[in-house]
Amino acid sequence: MPHSDDFLAVHDPAAVQAAHEPGSENRRWWGFAVALAAGLVLLCALTWLVSVQRGLAALQESTATRADRYAATLESTLDRYEFLPALVSLHPFVRGLLQAPGDPARVAAANHYLAEVNRRSHASATYVIATNGIALAASNAGEPGSFVGTDYRFRPYFQIAARGEMGRFYAIGITSDEPGYYIAQPVESGGKVIGVTVVKLNLEWFQRAGGGSAEPLMVSDDHGVIFLSSVPGWQYRTLGPLPPELHDELGKTRQYHDRDVTPLPLEPLTSPVTEWLAATALDPGARLVRVRANGTNRDGSERADRYLELGRKVGPADWTMQVMAPLDPVLANARNATVAAALAYACICLLLVNWRQRRQRARDMLYSRRLLEAAYDELERRVEARTADLMAINEKLEEEVAERTRAESELRAAQDELVQASKLAALGQMAAGITHELNQPLAALRTFSDNTRVLLERGQLGAAEGNLSAIADLTERMGKITGQLKLFAGKARPPRRSVQVRAAIEHVLALLAPRLSGVALHVDGLDALPGIAVRADELKLEQVLVNLVGNALDAIASAAPAQGRIDLSVRAEAGTVTIQVRDNGTGIPPEDLPRLFEPFFTTKETGQGLGLGLAITSSIVREFGGQLSAANADGGGAVFTIVLARAPAEAGAPASQTH
Ligand code: ADP
Repeated sequence: MPHSDDFLAVHDPAAVQAAHEPGSENRRWWGFAVALAAGLVLLCALTWLVSVQRGLAALQESTATRADRYAATLESTLDRYEFLPALVSLHPFVRGLLQAPGDPARVAAANHYLAEVNRRSHASATYVIATNGIALAASNAGEPGSFVGTDYRFRPYFQIAARGEMGRFYAIGITSDEPGYYIAQPVESGGKVIGVTVVKLNLEWFQRAGGGSAEPLMVSDDHGVIFLSSVPGWQYRTLGPLPPELHDELGKTRQYHDRDVTPLPLEPLTSPVTEWLAATALDPGARLVRVRANGTNRDGSERADRYLELGRKVGPADWTMQVMAPLDPVLANARNATVAAALAYACICLLLVNWRQRRQRARDMLYSRRLLEAAYDELERRVEARTADLMAINEKLEEEVAERTRAESELRAAQDELVQASKLAALGQMAAGITHELNQPLAALRTFSDNTRVLLERGQLGAAEGNLSAIADLTERMGKITGQLKLFAGKARPPRRSVQVRAAIEHVLALLAPRLSGVALHVDGLDALPGIAVRADELKLEQVLVNLVGNALDAIASAAPAQGRIDLSVRAEAGTVTIQVRDNGTGIPPEDLPRLFEPFFTTKETGQGLGLGLAITSSIVREFGGQLSAANADGGGAVFTIVLARAPAEAGAPASQTH
């Protein structure tokens, strides 16, 4: 048997109880469940944070690449046109026009030149403004919405160029109502500004470079006004609140014509988690923002409202380009990773719980087995102890049985001796009785024989013959007396046979038929007897019945022979058969009852009875293992009762016999 800790625990009652107490078991399970739940929360949080962090880093990288590409595209476009106004301002047609603004030929030449330049450079418009702010010539002269004659004094790019510097400005055209980028170049002559050349570029194409509004792209000016945006609703809105003086200035310069410039509801995400993410995953120029009430995409889907925003400075005019990348994919990935981690964790937890339960079950089984073994050992010990007790008792019993057997055999020997002694005593009595009984017929025999001799001598043969028959009668009587004595010879032997009761009774009644002729005989119960047998000897049983019925006839004869009646009844019970012989004779005087079965007890006259009938009868019945009793009947007369043990019926025994 292995000596594990568990085994030791089983033999330590306190430890066993503690280990199998439901309360402590429940507490342990609760603790385990809480630890698992805490682990799940921690794992989800970590997975989410790490996924978002990595996603943001990757998103920043891809967005930065896009931002750099857009910035380079815009820069190169602006650079291409940067020197175009300066070139135009050097042309003799332009300078000639500015020196003689009223000359229609110069105006026409300049218009023609400007239209040609504009066509080749793919600009929106190219025009020349006089120092008073009135446009003198334009590439779109003669067309509807021509700039010629328009007053540009209020436009900052004109004002800057008029001061001798290069003016750059993004605005909505007051004539065309089309937005554009204006590059203005002063035309100088003799150290003095004599006019301004302007090239207007259409940058609307850039809005579409953003690849649709799913990843917004926007360019804002130095005041934070978004003038280009891939999201239509964001154009002409500001990145921050607009100061009132700036609002006034926009009105004065009519930069955005009649558009109402309002702030875009864009705000940085400032929760501790987003700040931590920005600090760990993002470069300084990047930030996480939310755009509230962002509307829907062109396809009707809800537009994302959380973005990673990357800024780039572009162009000579202090513009800022913002590239916005929606955070939804990053968050969705993080969510998926978290769910996957949670599922994996749940699987591990289930395995853990399963393993724990198996271990618990194994421990319980081990515990039960130990208990069972202990109980079995205890049982074996007790059985051994009890067996030893029983063996001791058995030995004692055997001794007692041997003792009793010895005592019994001694008793039987003593009994046998007693019987022999009583038989000897009876023999003495019997000898006296026989002497008494035989003396009288012997004396008669002597007398008869003497008489006969005399009669023969006298020749009286007839008388002698009569004497001889009397002698024969006497010897027959004496033979009967001696015949009864035979029954006393030898020891009693248990009956070996079973006797059909009904057959025995019918036989006896047939034997006694001549004597019964004048008596009313009632036999009761014979019909219920077929097949019923008793343990007895056939002849002896018949002798018993002959004796009893004979006595009854004697009693009737001495009382009232005319009304004589004998009742013979037989009753079979579970293990016995009872036979009663009842008469209405003299009955038995109470003082004679105790002596009735003594040998030679008789109330009959000498020569009538020997007093051996009942003694022999009771001896025979005892020999059968039965009982014989005598009593006075209620209505007068005597009743003798024999109870005998039943014997199994012999196969093929006749149900009844007739004689
Ligand atoms: P015996 O018939 O030779 O006298 P028993 O032993 O048969 O011897 O009977 C003993 C005595 O019991 C009888 O003398 C008689 O007095 C009495 N006795 C027996 N049977 C009856 C009976 N049916 N009625 C009255 N007395 C009886």
